[in-house]
Amino acid sequence: MKCEQIQLLLSQYLDNELDELRRKKIDRHLQTCASCSQDLTSLAKTVRVLHAVSDLNPPGTTTKKE
Ligand SMILES: [Zn+2]
Repeated sequence: MKCEQIQLLLSQYLDNELDELRRKKIDRHLQTCASCSQDLTSLAKTVRVLHAVSDLNPPGTTTKKE
């Protein structure tokens, strides 16, 4: 798998939306590719922040003016 393909799948990988085969391929790639594993780390941080924000503001409780 190429890095570009891995990067496209990283967010799904984090959300556990991939089948086992693809997850294993990504796992293997991440073990050998420093740049992709770094991307995964920073993406994981971003996702955690997004989840934290959505925990603070569950859908429906935001006061949105439309
Ligand atoms: Zn890579």
